[in-house]
Parts: sequence; structure tokens; C-alpha cells
Amino acid sequence: MSDYGLIINGNKIACDNSFPVINPANEEVLAQCPIATKEQLDDAVKAAANAFESWSKVPDEERAAACGIIAAAINDNADELARLLTEEQGKPLSGQGSRFEVGGAGAWASYTGSLSLPDKIIQDDEAARVIQTRKPIGVVGSITPWNWPLMIAIWHVVPAIRAGNTVVIKPSPYTPLSTLRMVEILNGCLPPGVLNCVTGEDELGQWMSEHPGIKKIIFTGSTATGKKVMSSSAGNLKRLTLELGGNDAGIVLDDVDPAAIAQGIIDGAFINNGQTCAALKRLYVHESVYDELCTKLVEAASNVPMGNGLDEDNLQGPIQNKMQFDKVTGLLEDAKANGGRVLCGGEIPDQPGYFMPYTLVADVSDGMRIVDEEQFGPLLPIIKYADIEDALRRANASESGLGGSVWSSNPDRAARIAAQLECGTAWVNSHGGIAPNIPFGGVKASGIGIEFGEEGLQEYTTIQIVNISKAAA
Ligand code: NDP
Repeated sequence: MSDYGLIINGNKIACDNSFPVINPANEEVLAQCPIATKEQLDDAVKAAANAFESWSKVPDEERAAACGIIAAAINDNADELARLLTEEQGKPLSGQGSRFEVGGAGAWASYTGSLSLPDKIIQDDEAARVIQTRKPIGVVGSITPWNWPLMIAIWHVVPAIRAGNTVVIKPSPYTPLSTLRMVEILNGCLPPGVLNCVTGEDELGQWMSEHPGIKKIIFTGSTATGKKVMSSSAGNLKRLTLELGGNDAGIVLDDVDPAAIAQGIIDGAFINNGQTCAALKRLYVHESVYDELCTKLVEAASNVPMGNGLDEDNLQGPIQNKMQFDKVTGLLEDAKANGGRVLCGGEIPDQPGYFMPYTLVADVSDGMRIVDEEQFGPLLPIIKYADIEDALRRANASESGLGGSVWSSNPDRAARIAAQLECGTAWVNSHGGIAPNIPFGGVKASGIGIEFGEEGLQEYTTIQIVNISKAAA
């Protein structure tokens, strides 16, 4: 029997079948999570479809107010949610860890409530009055990953219900518990069926993508799975927003002060232990500042307190799961075998948990796995370049196009170069900063569609034109 319950139509439903959720800091079983059957997914979709009938007609101001109520409920339960998040995800309570994530979830919910999509008058003359309205789509399926489980859940759920849709959310099986609990809490402030949560193992995401009752999928995860979602969603032409992986390049120009930028680079690369879609994952450094910057980066990345995130002193937790730990350590071994020079970190502590300290690897280049593949962990390759055009070409040679950055003491020069990066967001002298009012999304294989801001809210609507002829009147 599961320790947690699915949330369907406002009810909490325990399941006979369950799977263990592992705490990555000690590899012990934290709790048993329910495995939803196909029938239970149908029940959740039916509940959401029924709720859509009334929720889509609720006055706009009431739906805006609901976002504020959601934000307050998250903030009121922040301590419990943050602790659970640390236990299942591994990130520390402190620093930019689980308290930061839960605080961000509340802030995003609150800001999304302030957005609106008023009607637009396209034409109003003696011939016709043409009005463009935005209508909710129906039941939205949200599929979330394990890196920022609560923040990403809120990024999906709140704009969906703000726009008048209802939702069935499926968290990653690595980190389902905090989402189940958050959805249970939020059901205290929403009508039954508006927000449902199902959990399970591998088939559930595919069942959702194929489900004829789901009209849109919002997915955050790997590019490979994003392609599968796209193909299995074709049956009923689902609307899609896909926020997929990145292999963000940062380019350091020859005019930087290494001491001034080192901490910003480490923060951009290792936020959430590097397990962030838009983290800095390849650092190209001009040869004239390469050695000095490497020295400063080592100072910034060394001696970060690492351990169980429940200990307030720790600022780095474990990698979230064994699959990811093996992937990241495999990339490190491959780099070492091919001449990479480990500047700091690299030693795996002899203790339970998927721990790896911040690790910087110099003397690597394109064509090596550590550069060409998204590491998604506390591992950063540092690549030397001589010519900026060559650095840009290498940065853009990736299939991904989520973010990128340019670092310089001349922001105007850097901005001109940043504009040539093939990515959705190009930062200057920082990397990875996002905000609820700034549209965010990837180009190339990093995704389809936009999140955040008015453009993000539009993705949860379809346009209807009402075209009123004045000829007969
Ligand atoms: P996935 O992309 O496979 O998983 C993300 C979500 O998709 C999970 O909820 C998963 O659930 C679900 N899913 C998996 N297969 C399907 C399917 N066919 N149809 C619908 N949903 C599906 O990520 P992984 O956990 O496997 O991580 C793999 C790599 O992805 C990482 O190494 C990292 O590089 C990248 N990644 C990128 C993230 C980002 O923010 N862009 C976030 C997380 C990972 P289930 O497992 O139950 O199938």
C-alpha cells in the first residue's frame, strides 16, 4: 500500500501498487509512492474535464485571485514542503536550495495572477467590428522532471488554471512526493477536479501524451523524451509546450577581470548542483585570461560544504539519482582518459549517497563527450579559444539552443556578441537568471514554445476571432 495518495477530483486515493522513492543523500527508502492504473488516469482526466465546464466560465478576476490564494497556501506550508523536497530531491534547505525553490514557486504563482489577456479589437469601422479573444484549451497534462519539482510544477499549473484550463499533473518518479503533497494542499483552495495529480512509473507519461481527453501537454525534461511526447501527442493534435535540455555555452572575452567574474560563472554553472536546464555547461575562455580565470574559478568552487541537505550548514547536496550520478561520473572519467586536467573536485567520497564535489576540468575541447553532451551535474569543462569568431562557431555548433552568455568588462561589446548566439536567452555577465515576467524558452532542439510573462500565458489559450459584420445592421 502506498504511503501517499493520488489526488483525483479533490480526493486522496491510496493505491495497492507502489514504488519506493529513494533519498539520494543516504540511498534509503523515503516512502512508497502510488502507481496509478490506466483507469485512474482516466478518472483524473474525467474529473478535470468535468471541472473545466465550470472553471472555464469563472470570472477572470476570480481566477486571478485564485493564483494569489495558491501563492499564500504555498508560503503557509513552505517549511513542510521544503523539508520534503530536500529529502526526495537532495538539494539543501539552505542557499539556493529547497527554501529558495518553494519561495520561488510562491512568487511565480503570485505574479502569474497579475497577468491577463484582454480582448483585442482588430478592426472597428463601418464595415465590421473584429474582436480577438483568448479561450482556455481544456484539460492540460503537465509532465515534470526531478530537478526543480515544485517550481516547475507551479510554472505549468498556475498559468494553465489562470487561463481557465484544468490540469492533470504527473511528477517524475524520482521526486513525486513533494508534488503530491503540494497538490493536496492546493486542493484546499480550488474546486474539486481543477488540479489532479497522478504518479506512476514509465508508462504513465506516454498514456498522458496519447490520452484523447487531454488537449495540451506542457513537458519539461530531456530532448529525447520531448520528441517521444511530441510523437505520441499527434493523435488528437495536442497543443504542446516543450522545455527541453540545453548545453549552454559561456564565452569569456579577452578583456575580463577574472576575479570579478569567477563567482558568477560558478553560480551559473552549479546552481542546483548543475542540474538545471539553463545552467552554464561549456565555458569558452580566451587564451589571454585562461590560466588566471582557472585559478579564480578553483577558488570559488572549492570547499563548498557538501552533505545531507537537512544540515543547515550544507550548500551542496547529492546528485539527484543513480542514473544521473553514473552519467556525470562517466563523463568525468571519459574526460580524464582523453587528457582533461581536473582542477578541483573529481574525488567521489566513500559514503552512502550520490555525492560529487564541484568539479572543473581544463584542457578539454569540442569533440569530447564532456563538452558535446549535457552533463546536468556538478561538472564544468573549460575550453581555451584564440579567436572570437571561432568561439562563436563552436558555441553555436550544438543542437541545443536554450541559453548562452558572454562575459566582458565592456557590456556593449558583449551584447553584440551575445546577439549572435543561437539560443532563447543570451545573458551578459551572468548566466541562468530567470523571472516570471521575462519570456523563457529554447530554440533548435531545446524546445517549442515559451513560458512566463504574457507570452507564456498565451500558450494555455487558443485564439477565437469574433467577426461582426455591420453591413446588415
Ligand atoms: P526524462 O525527460 O525522461 O523525464 C522527464 C519526465 O518525462 C518524467 O516525468 C518522466 O516520467 C516523463 N517521461 C518519460 N518518458 C516519457 C514518455 N515516453 N512520454 C511522456 N512522458 C515521459 O528525464 P530523465 O529523468 O530520464 O533524465 C534524463 C536526462 O534528461 C538527464 O540526464 C538530463 O540531461 C535531462 N533532464 C533535463 C531536464 C530539464 O529541465 N530540461 C530535467 C530533467 C532531466 P517517467 O520517468 O515515469 O517516464
